[in-house]
Amino acid sequence: MLETVNPATGEVLATFPLHGSREVDAAVAAAREAAVWWAGLDWSGRRLRLFAWKSYLTRYMGRLAQLVHEETGKPLDDAKLEIILAIVHIDWAARHARRVLRPRRVRSGLAAINQVSSVEYLPLGVIGVIGPWNYPVFTPVGSIAYALAAGNAVVFKPSELTPATGDWLVRSFGEALDIFSESMPVLQLVTGASSTGEALARSGVAKIAFTGSAATARKVMAAAADTLTPVIAECGGKDALLVGADADLDAAADAAAWGAMSNAGQTCIGIERVYVADAVYHSFLERLTKRVAELRPGADPGAAYGPMTSPAQGEIVARHVADALARGGRRWGAGDELAGLTAPDAWTAASGADDASYVPPVILTDVPEHSAAVTEETFGPTVTVTSVANLAEAVSFANASRYGLGSAVFTKDRAAGLATARTLRSGMTSVNSVLGFVLVPALPFGGVGESGFGRTHGADGLREFSRPKAITRQRMRPLLNVTSFGRTDRDMRRMVTLMTLLHGRLYRPRGTRRNQ
Ligand code: NAD
Repeated sequence: MLETVNPATGEVLATFPLHGSREVDAAVAAAREAAVWWAGLDWSGRRLRLFAWKSYLTRYMGRLAQLVHEETGKPLDDAKLEIILAIVHIDWAARHARRVLRPRRVRSGLAAINQVSSVEYLPLGVIGVIGPWNYPVFTPVGSIAYALAAGNAVVFKPSELTPATGDWLVRSFGEALDIFSESMPVLQLVTGASSTGEALARSGVAKIAFTGSAATARKVMAAAADTLTPVIAECGGKDALLVGADADLDAAADAAAWGAMSNAGQTCIGIERVYVADAVYHSFLERLTKRVAELRPGADPGAAYGPMTSPAQGEIVARHVADALARGGRRWGAGDELAGLTAPDAWTAASGADDASYVPPVILTDVPEHSAAVTEETFGPTVTVTSVANLAEAVSFANASRYGLGSAVFTKDRAAGLATARTLRSGMTSVNSVLGFVLVPALPFGGVGESGFGRTHGADGLREFSRPKAITRQRMRPLLNVTSFGRTDRDMRRMVTLMTLLHGRLYRPRGTRRNQ
């Protein structure tokens, strides 16, 4: 059995079975039948049922938020915020699936002028969703809602740290559908740790939507390879926030504090590095340290953020901070510089909390770019702040990471903001805000490099859970009969002449004259 524990109290919240390949395969088999039924509903039928689900989540938000709070340790309001985001995504996916995926005509082109052509996006069948623990509602719903809206059934394996939240989500879908007197297993739960996830990756589902670390993504891909199952990998990040010399420093410092420290830094798109233009470096740092000094981790309602969801994460954070300090970095925390910070125990002294899993906010400066605190995903309430000459240099530092999930840039120059956003090697960028893109359901979400591939959210997220189907219908006999053994030399000659006229002109650099 799998026990899920409140990280703030150590209390066991619930137990769940450890599902093996037998249970996972049975769930996938049942989902295959449900997928046929679900795909057979029309767009409005699926939309109505997804609306019923979002309404259920909205009406019972308080209960789900309490459970997320207990199972992850995050503040109640943060739990509500991620549920609100999930609701917005269910609504968007349900509302836009038809427009994005329905058949649409495409031009056939001169060579196929006798054909009527269309493309449409059909459901894949059963999607396996493997989720993480840090946003146990928002993250899986980013796949589940879009997969369901595109006409698929889903088998969902939540993280072994948050099975109760996963169970609640799946049951809420069933309860929302009760009013339709339907009990098809369109959304099912399987629980367990890595072996359950691996069984799902091997089960022959039509696609795996995986969210977690890059290291695990590699294992999932290896397991999925046997059945040639495609995988979407939403992995970690090392997001950078860039501050230009003309930026609103109060807004940038506030955004850096929230981006780095909220949810104890356990956010895939959390800010872990800040690059600040020389001219405003000290002013920015002063504002950031002042803002961060007000933050306190804890389990009480007044705390800025909660405990680390798993003790192992606190050890990684301590290792990164200790390494940065050993390499000449300086620590700016909610008090004075704390030397010799090597073990999670040291957090207790720093935060005043009575538990080592409460990590105080840590600002690090003068950290070499090759140290772990800059190159590896820390996933804690820490941030490095580095001075750079200008935004261009900030981009080159930011892009040196092997991750590329989100990023943010602060500048009052609108054109420079957009240009910088375009040159940042990341899937998403917010200009003059932090994490702004997650509030916009129409925007695709995903990364490059070690941050993974594939997209959830928006129209791309809907298409990710569909297969494009191309159809041509011959509406009259071809003018040139070239795809038949009955073709003549004349047909081919005419085809070649037509192609030469259409595509055979000489192309030169612009501005050069014909006779040059
Ligand atoms: P993890 O990689 O440890 O686990 C993720 C999921 O994979 C869990 O459900 C786990 O049980 C399962 N799993 C583990 N081994 C497996 C295997 N061999 N085969 C199949 N499944 C297996 O990640 P985590 O610690 O739960 O989550 C934190 C990570 O997730 C961080 O790196 C974070 O940045 C990332 N994350 C990314 C996004 C995003 O959208 N890009 C969102 C949230 C979290």
